[in-house]
Amino acid sequence: MKIIDRLKEDRIHLSMEVFPPKTETKFEAVEAAVKEITKLHPAFMSCTYGAGGGTSQYTVDISKEIMECGVPSMAHLTCISSTRETIAHQIESIKGAGIENILALRGDLPADGKLPEDGYKHATDLVYDIKRLYPEACIGGACYPEKHPDAGTKEEDIRFLKEKVEAGCDFLTTQMFFDNSVYYNFLYRLRVQGVNVPVLAGIMPITTKQQMRRSVELSGCIIPARFKAIVDMFGDSPEAMKQAGIVYASEQIIDLLANGIKNIHLYTMNKPDIAQAILDNLKGIWTPEE
Ligand code: FAD
Repeated sequence: MKIIDRLKEDRIHLSMEVFPPKTETKFEAVEAAVKEITKLHPAFMSCTYGAGGGTSQYTVDISKEIMECGVPSMAHLTCISSTRETIAHQIESIKGAGIENILALRGDLPADGKLPEDGYKHATDLVYDIKRLYPEACIGGACYPEKHPDAGTKEEDIRFLKEKVEAGCDFLTTQMFFDNSVYYNFLYRLRVQGVNVPVLAGIMPITTKQQMRRSVELSGCIIPARFKAIVDMFGDSPEAMKQAGIVYASEQIIDLLANGIKNIHLYTMNKPDIAQAILDNLKGIWTPEE
């Protein structure tokens, strides 16, 4: 099923994200966690892609598994470190597996700065190639409520985002954020600039102190004082931090829903227990997809 068709249904959509194993030895454990998450019946599940392409085949394998469990799936695909030939092969492999949804990403710039000749510069270039090679695919793109770290200004970032959508993105998913007003403000600015596709709000449940440090380093997101206080108070107690992180993410979701936002993407990170705990907090508010 195409995600854009699902998003057109008038109901709350909760999607979930998983990541593929790095090595074959980890495959079974990841596969088991992914299957557990499919049992929660999210609107769709997406599987990430290693920037260097190291786990590319596993992304397709896991995405296929998700689909076979009856949940629409989306394979992430990054382009910056790949040749046009590799990407064409990858798109063919996604198409061949029957996966109808692709999240078209640039990926982070490689640390050594080396890029393939005649490769890709931006995710928009990849969107054009997916449109050409797999025109029936539903295409998603990433966006950054607090602006992408490489972007000069928020205005410039939205200008390039608009180009990406016009190239063929059917919907967008945001980077994680911990203050919902950041998302409301971003959505307003997108709509003013005529970007009208669905924008899934990306919620990351932070359940350990280390995870918060890593997430902030990677995303550059602002951590509100309210959440900093939680980490200061509970960060050294794993059980308390896990529970506080689940409650914080649940409250973010409830606030989004209360403000009329119906499409939410949960960065579940291969943790069915955390996904389940959040859904328990949404009992009576969200119902599993058929
Ligand atoms: P782009 O859309 O290309 O934007 C990157 C920067 O380039 C922005 O500053 C933008 O303003 C600028 N830009 C865009 N077009 C132009 C142009 N024409 N001229 C000049 N500047 C331009 N990474 C992974 O490795 N694997 C994953 O699976 C993965 N999944 C992700 C899922 C989500 C929902 C998100 C939000 C991020 C994900 N990432 C993933 C991280 C992502 O790859 C990085 O944030 C990367 O640095 C940017 O990718 P992008 O697709 O947003 O890039």
